[in-house]
Amino acid sequence: ILEMHHVGKAFAGNPVLRDINLSVHPGEIVTLIGPSGSGKTTALRCMNFLEAYDQGEVLIKGQLLGYSGNLRGKAHTDSPALIAEVRRPLAMVFQQFNLWPHMTVLENVVAPLVLGKKMPRHAAKHAAMTALNQVGMAQKASDWPVRLSGGQQQRVGIARALALEPELLLLDEPTSALDPERVEEVLDVIRSLAKQGMTMVMVTHEMAFAAHISSRLVFMADGYIVESGSPRQLFTQPESERLRIFLAPLF
Ligand code: ATP
Repeated sequence: ILEMHHVGKAFAGNPVLRDINLSVHPGEIVTLIGPSGSGKTTALRCMNFLEAYDQGEVLIKGQLLGYSGNLRGKAHTDSPALIAEVRRPLAMVFQQFNLWPHMTVLENVVAPLVLGKKMPRHAAKHAAMTALNQVGMAQKASDWPVRLSGGQQQRVGIARALALEPELLLLDEPTSALDPERVEEVLDVIRSLAKQGMTMVMVTHEMAFAAHISSRLVFMADGYIVESGSPRQLFTQPESERLRIFLAPLF
């Protein structure tokens, strides 16, 4: 469903992603791990073109994302409408939830459906309530986001993504902005999505959770993918010194 071929990205001349090659197949849960600043979040943001990459290609269901036709020289990007069309199978959950404070919980989930997906309001409301129900937040539909705990806000963030019926869900450190006692409720929601077979690419520092839930771990350092494989493989037989050092505090 997603392919990255030789993707590179620099910020002001500093390379942050280097030669990233990654394929994600339906049903897989791929988790990016690695030290702070290794490029995990940037890699995730390039997958849906929230960040423009400068080298290589990102394909979603075989369609080039961001640069097509004679624009493949990467000097220009496609129109926002075309980018939106190609990335339609994706939805994203953000570290800081990114809920709109001036809208109720329900409206936060409805708005992308009406504005983005051009769904009629009544159908959007129905889809939003179904998604809120899925994350256990239906009873808070008319509350304001500020009234909710961080964990509840993130569950709404997940519902907003689910309502789009994504074929691939991207999660960027979904629990790292939460108080410790709120982490588990969000991990529970993600576990239930995994059980339902949702395809996901996630960045997280929750290593035990990542080891448990992931079909594949991708270890990044200095903008490179250093190693990838099953959690068992990476945890029990790390090939690189970098990964051994990264995992050492866990044992
Ligand atoms: P963490 O685990 O701390 O979130 P990460 O592995 O997700 O780290 P990124 O957030 O992708 O790492 O950042 C990689 C590097 O790119 C860092 O050095 C960061 O400072 C830099 N960077 C990220 N976004 C930008 C930006 N918009 N402008 C300039 N530099 C950036």
